[in-house]
Amino acid sequence: MKQENVSLKTRTDDFEHQKMLEIKNLKVVFPMEMGLLRAVEGIDLSVDKGKCVAIVGESGCGKSVTSLATMKLLNPAQAVVQVDKMELDGMDITQLSEPEMQKLRGRKVSMIFQDALSALNPVMTVGKQLDEIFRKHFKISKKEAKARSIEALRMVGIPEPQMRYKAYPHELSGGMRQRVLIAMAFACHPDLIIADEPTTALDVTIQAQVLQVLSDMQRKNGTSLILITHDLSVVVHMADEICVMYCGKIVEKASTRDLFKQPLHPYTKGLINSVAKMSDEKGEFVQIPDSLPNPMNKPQGCYFHPRCPYATEQCRQEMPYMETLENGRQVRCWNWREEVCYVE
Ligand code: SF4
Repeated sequence: MKQENVSLKTRTDDFEHQKMLEIKNLKVVFPMEMGLLRAVEGIDLSVDKGKCVAIVGESGCGKSVTSLATMKLLNPAQAVVQVDKMELDGMDITQLSEPEMQKLRGRKVSMIFQDALSALNPVMTVGKQLDEIFRKHFKISKKEAKARSIEALRMVGIPEPQMRYKAYPHELSGGMRQRVLIAMAFACHPDLIIADEPTTALDVTIQAQVLQVLSDMQRKNGTSLILITHDLSVVVHMADEICVMYCGKIVEKASTRDLFKQPLHPYTKGLINSVAKMSDEKGEFVQIPDSLPNPMNKPQGCYFHPRCPYATEQCRQEMPYMETLENGRQVRCWNWREEVCYVE
């Protein structure tokens, strides 16, 4: 049994007033014919100004639903959202109406979606789509909007931006379309951007380029960023903090450095091992066994217990609580002390 070796630096709450986003106890339930689908089960999330927080987990773990709930983009006819606190730059957004939220979206908070082809209007040039954003949020002439749009395309590294301004989405490559989405998201200099799997549809080389653009834009503009991904390798150079989600709950939260140096939760260890083994020379890929449980029928106790090599009887019976360590990192596991997980 390995010994605990967790840094216990004292954390101060100096940054309390610097939060761009603060969410407490967010729950999202989809009533279905078969019963209730509890997609998000009481998560807390906060993002400091200018920082990048990654939400990582397998497909279906609730990370995209979390982002849509944060943007208030879930259809109230389909999803029941409950939250104790949701503040954007100190402003309570829980009670804002849809027209009020529309004013915030784009200007204060914006989103980059995974599938640029679906996110972009296929029958409008990318330039005109950018123009619309500028003209919606600023009282400017068509000529001024066009100039800003071309500059926005240039800022995200699109070559010959005057030419691309006139292109339709299908005339651009996947990487280029994703850059257009990044340009649109940053167009009004929002305080917070939520990027949901922004590079999943791209091949690895283009993925790295697009992430670099996103990272550069975020740092240059001092924007807060929530980066949602199933791929831990995507966040290692970008995120300041990582939240690992499993079956609608956050199971570990730590600074990127601490998380990669010493993952405490067995699921996090599995995710990191997958990344490490994928990039080794043998190309061996070690997967976490089995897959996510049926969201309509989650197991009793710790949701991860059917896949966990350290599961005990207590794990099969009782849901572990989220424990906060003295250095601020958090973990939801009965046995993290006994089974502190090292990346081999
Ligand atoms: Fe594994 Fe038990 Fe920890 Fe869940 S609580 S992750 S089953 S050791």
